[in-house]
Parts: sequence; structure tokens; C-alpha cells
Amino acid sequence: MTQIKNIGVYTSGGDSPGMNAAIRAVVRTAIYYGLDVTGIRRGYDGMIKGDLFPMDRQSVSNIIQRGGTILKTARSEQFKTVEGRKQAFENLKAHKVDALVAIGGDGTFTGAKIFGQEYDMPIVGLPGTIDNDLCGTDFTIGYDTAINTVIQAVDKIRDTAESHDRLFIVEVMGRDSGLIALRTGIAAGAEAILIPESKTDLQAVFEKLERGRKDKKSKIIMLAENGEAGDAFEIGRQIKEKFPNYDTRISILGHIQRGGSPSCMDRVLASRVGVAAVEGLMAGHRNEMVGLIHNEIAFTPFDNAIKRNIDINPDFLKIVDILAT
Ligand code: ATP
Repeated sequence: MTQIKNIGVYTSGGDSPGMNAAIRAVVRTAIYYGLDVTGIRRGYDGMIKGDLFPMDRQSVSNIIQRGGTILKTARSEQFKTVEGRKQAFENLKAHKVDALVAIGGDGTFTGAKIFGQEYDMPIVGLPGTIDNDLCGTDFTIGYDTAINTVIQAVDKIRDTAESHDRLFIVEVMGRDSGLIALRTGIAAGAEAILIPESKTDLQAVFEKLERGRKDKKSKIIMLAENGEAGDAFEIGRQIKEKFPNYDTRISILGHIQRGGSPSCMDRVLASRVGVAAVEGLMAGHRNEMVGLIHNEIAFTPFDNAIKRNIDINPDFLKIVDILAT
């Protein structure tokens, strides 16, 4: 095992609140252990274009509380090619980078896994995504902030829904995962939740509306994007058709879910896994993601971390049903 001297750090894929706290933790930990740190701008795109620069402790001053990522992020089609990855490796070598910390989601780790197999480059990943759709960690960096942003928004929607006796369909992010919709649906007191994992059954929602309280016309339905039953407009159309008496409105929360100052939980998570990533690289870990399982640091091979079949706790769906009566 060769000794690591210079760690490169990058953020990639969709941004999430807490990525800055993670970058800060990686940079400060590397410096603490006497290592050099190289920042890579815009993920794999910057790696291929050679957008690398030395970082010191001041580079990460006053960023722990800031949303977004000071290193910027991007998606790179070129990194999916052999030539693109070769160019990336040459740039890393030119800057004497001999290990990497990748902050991102499943796509980022898929790229890291392939790169780590092709080249002798130890890589440890940090789970940076609002979607919480990675195995090997109870929570991803950004998820807690995102769900708090969602419930703040839905609380406001409830006020106006109540005043006007309206039914709102609120669409939230999650790519192919309903974890944001599920948790925020419970926290916001939604009447129903539609998520891809439970094979969206609109018929069940219709039945719920039929047998639900007739005196309460204001209702919230939480919908995860990319579900089988269609988007918020399609579901709104079908509800309108079946229940013409409901005054139905659509609210798509969109990119506000990605921004904002990270919550305390996300900052602490990012700091813990950031420190563990550098210490892990020094101890010989590679091709693994570091997360928290039952509040303990855990390393999980990229292959297992990016498995897409995250189990939904059936109790959560039951809770929605019981509490919406
Ligand atoms: P999020 O889940 O928040 O969107 P992500 O990391 O999953 O984040 P992606 O856009 O899926 O975001 O992936 C980020 C980048 O990882 C891609 O733009 C690409 O450069 C790289 N990547 C993804 N899949 C591969 C692959 N099969 N081979 C090489 N690189 C890949």
C-alpha cells in the first residue's frame, strides 16, 4: 500500500445542502494529517478539463452554513467514455493527486467505481444527495434539509388549502425514490401519499377520498415525481374527473428543495463522514462509500451502495392511512 500524499475532492451530480460542510471536513482533515488537498471543479467535467487547484484551510472558511457547493457540480457524458476517463487520470497525475473523495449520488459512485477499476486510484465516496436513495447509510447529506424545506412549504399550502377548501396535489423530488414524499407526507399530515415504491394506486386514493371526512374539503396529496400514474397534472385531471366538487390545485415544489442553509443534522453528518473518508483512505479503504448506519460510521462497497431497491418501511404507509382518518 503506497502512502497517500494528495487527496482530490469533488462534488458531482445533483447538488444537495451540506455538500460544503462535507468539502470543509475533507479539506480540514487532510490538512490535520499533513496531506495536500486538490479541489476539482464541476465534478468529472472539471477532472477531464483539468480544472484543479490547491486548497488550504482558508479555501473552506465560512462555508459550513452555505447551501450549494463551492466546487460547483456538473454531469459529464464524456466521463462515461474510456477516452474521457483517461484524460481525467492524466490530469490527476499531473497535479500529483493520488486519492479521491467523491461527493454525490449513485451516478457519481458508478463513475467512481469504473474509474477505480481502470486506474490505481483509491476513491472513497460521501453520500451527497437530497433523495436518500443510497444503501449503506441511514441518511444522505441534504435529505434532512430538503424534507424540512418541503414541510415548511406544505404548511403554507395547508393554510391556503384550508381557507379555500381546496385539494392540493404537492409534487416533490426524489428521482425514482419516494422517500422525500413518504416522510414529508407524514410530517405534513397528508391525506394520501403516492410513491413509486408502492406502485402508485390511484384507485386507492379515490376510495380514500370517497370514504374520507365529508366535512373536510381541504386535503393534501403528496406525490413523488416520476411515478407510474403520471405527473401532478395528470393525477389532478383524473381527480377532477372523478370528483368534480373538489377544487383541485397543483403545486410542484421543484428546485427550492435543493437549496438553503443545511440543517444541523446535515452539517454534523457531513462533518462525520468527511473526517471518516480521509481517515479511511489513509487506512487503505477504496471503492467504498462512507455513511452512518445506526449512528456509527460504516464503509459500504460502491456496488452495494448504489443498489436501487431501497426498502420502504410499510409502517410508514400504514401511519398515513391511520392518521388521515
Ligand atoms: P443525484 O442522485 O443527486 O442526481 P448522481 O451522482 O446520481 O446525483 P448523476 O447525474 O446520475 O448524478 O451522475 C453524475 C455523473 O457521474 C454523471 O454525469 C457521469 O459523469 C458520472 N457517471 C454516471 N454513470 C456513469 C457510468 N456508467 N460511467 C461513468 N461515469 C458515470
